[in-house]
Amino acid sequence: MRIEEELKLDFQDVLIRPKRSTLTSRSEVDISREFVFRHSGRSYTGVPIFAANMDTVGTFEMARALARHGMATALHKHYAEDALAAFFIALPAGATVFYSMGITSEDYEKFRRVEARCGGAITMVCVDVANGYTKAFVDFLHKLRGAYPKITIMAGNVVTGEMAEELILDGADIVKVGIGPGSVCTTRKMTGVGYPQLSAIIECADAAHGLGGLICADGGCTSAGDLAKAFGGGADFVMLGGMLAGHDECMGEVIERDGERKMRFYGMSSRAAMDLHSGGVAHYRASEGKEVLLDCRGPVEATVQEILGGVRSACTYVGARKLKELSKRTTFVRVARQLNEVFGQS
Ligand code: 5GP
Repeated sequence: MRIEEELKLDFQDVLIRPKRSTLTSRSEVDISREFVFRHSGRSYTGVPIFAANMDTVGTFEMARALARHGMATALHKHYAEDALAAFFIALPAGATVFYSMGITSEDYEKFRRVEARCGGAITMVCVDVANGYTKAFVDFLHKLRGAYPKITIMAGNVVTGEMAEELILDGADIVKVGIGPGSVCTTRKMTGVGYPQLSAIIECADAAHGLGGLICADGGCTSAGDLAKAFGGGADFVMLGGMLAGHDECMGEVIERDGERKMRFYGMSSRAAMDLHSGGVAHYRASEGKEVLLDCRGPVEATVQEILGGVRSACTYVGARKLKELSKRTTFVRVARQLNEVFGQS
């Protein structure tokens, strides 16, 4: 046993220190980014915020709504092959939608069949496992990269620099970062495993950038300010689940509770998800996600505007004319308290 004494930080442990600026309006801030991916060689231009590949968030409808803002969606992996093929074939060129998969042979064979039907329309893939530290995951990444050299691969999840480096060397263009911070995740409670998300982002970004790779901060954002901190910490992309949940585009089941309409939202390792997709929780495992009922929030458009407005505003506070400059201009101050909650949290 060993103890690392250095304090690791979460979003709520810091604030971003304001800096002098010549910007006069939030409208002067450009929050889109351009990247050329290390392995696929493809270029990417867009607002670097993704909807998570959860079955009530990463939907076709969400992809269409976010595309209007230049944002991408990682589709959930439970769509049928016909539906996926039809969606990708109809996708406008350059739209940035991720096909998502796990690492089972069924996942791989399904991807091969759908990809073969789409004639090159799938350009980005998200390979997603709860624990990105296994040899099986690394082997799968090698196999996928070998078979599809021109597809952009996002892979995870991990939280430490050495594993971010490993995944980039193994073929990932983007490493997905986060173990345990998610809004409907119970991994930390069930296993005691995890890593404070802001430190994970800072350490993985540093490691990945050194190799020409990129990272996507996945999980734990509860407000636009948290996205600003993730970008400030070095994240190239940020993935959102809970912040985009409960909207019309989520297609989650709506139920009536005490006279109010609520939408079901659950973790992909929750009992609810496993009952739906895997015939229940296998006898050798426990669920590592929970289910919550959210107020129905209407179209996602207003939420997106609020998020993008918040990120733009963060840029003006530190004098970043482009989102790309935000991390260079970020100094975090450690805080013991960041919000005045006298009238509640909103
Ligand atoms: P959020 O934005 O809601 O805080 O986090 C979204 C992320 O939580 C997802 O992209 C995924 O990485 C993670 N996640 C989703 N469902 C589960 C789950 O059931 N268990 C765990 N451990 N993580 C989950």
